Amino acid sequence: MTAAQRPADTPLFGELPGDISVSFEFFPPKTEKMETQLWDSITQLAPLAPNFVSVTYGAGGSTRERTHATVSRLVRETDLVPAAHLTCVGASKGEIDEIVDQYWDAGVRHIVALRGDPPPTDEGVFVPHPEGYTCAADLVAGLKARHDFDISVAAYPEIHPEALSPEADLDNLKRKIDAGASRAITQFFFSTDAYFRFMDKALAAGIDAPIIPGIMPVTSFAAIRRMSGNTEIPGWLETMFEGLDDRPGPRALVAAVAAADLCKRLYDGGVRDFHFYTLNKAEQTYAICQLLGLRPKTNPTETAA
Ligand SMILES: Cc1cc2nc3c(=O)[nH]c(=O)nc-3n(C[C@H](O)[C@H](O)[C@H](O)COP(=O)(O)OP(=O)(O)OC[C@H]3O[C@@H](n4cnc5c(N)ncnc54)[C@H](O)[C@@H]3O)c2cc1C
Repeated sequence: MTAAQRPADTPLFGELPGDISVSFEFFPPKTEKMETQLWDSITQLAPLAPNFVSVTYGAGGSTRERTHATVSRLVRETDLVPAAHLTCVGASKGEIDEIVDQYWDAGVRHIVALRGDPPPTDEGVFVPHPEGYTCAADLVAGLKARHDFDISVAAYPEIHPEALSPEADLDNLKRKIDAGASRAITQFFFSTDAYFRFMDKALAAGIDAPIIPGIMPVTSFAAIRRMSGNTEIPGWLETMFEGLDDRPGPRALVAAVAAADLCKRLYDGGVRDFHFYTLNKAEQTYAICQLLGLRPKTNPTETAA
């Protein structure tokens, strides 16, 4: 084989050693049917031995009980390390104390600490509860003072929409780490350049905690647009999904390929930790992990009931 032929003959995902770590994000189910889907997904993904599995918190604390129930069941019925998302929206510090005491007593040791989005009635401006935390950094400090939680926070490679400037957003991330967070998880993105540029700036700003890329396999373009904030949706991605609105099967396959391609480019740039926004579906995330060389470490029934 000549050197010129080699790149074309080298498979994109050939024989990766599986030297990656993963974490998975789920949302708390609303109905019995969704609950079944969630636990089926957890059972399928558990053998990949994630570092942790996180459960989101609905806007304004709307899923407080359901998040707690899901996280508690993870503690009771699996060997997985659960992480409970928690926001400052609409809660006093006393109410937050109560919630986190319950988590601590239930054996939960990892919190994803967030400010949360303002309710639509507040016209996009975050107004803290009069006796509440003002921002995520404030929440991290409060949580750390109460219990020795492992804390993750949010990061935005393409800048949070409310940030005054990219520098102010990085300063904010640094405050969250300095307040006691051990790592950041990013908003989803589709540009590896945006992630690596952000990593360079974070390092230059003295942030040495891991900043784990959040990977979102696209399942619905409308949903991605709604959730994207400042995340740029490249034209080529839109072209990839052209005409697939009413074809869920091919759409899911294309989405897995697009996300796997993003992960491979991150891998080639040295990334070894990946956080997947699973949307409570296992197939795409499992397939991407498989392509990245990860293999099951346990029998599914040993890890999740
Ligand atoms: C991985 C991940 C998981 C998420 N999970 C959830 C979830 O479960 N539930 C949910 O409701 N939302 C969730 N979100 C969304 C998140 O709540 C929103 O993006 C929210 O608008 C910001 O939260 P934050 O924790 O990043 O806030 P903060 O870090 O407090 O930042 C909010 C904004 O304020 C600015 N800011 C903060 N402090 C200062 C200051 N002192 N001076 C100047 N500017 C400042 C920041 O630059 C930023 O623009 C998640 C986001 C990510 C990336």
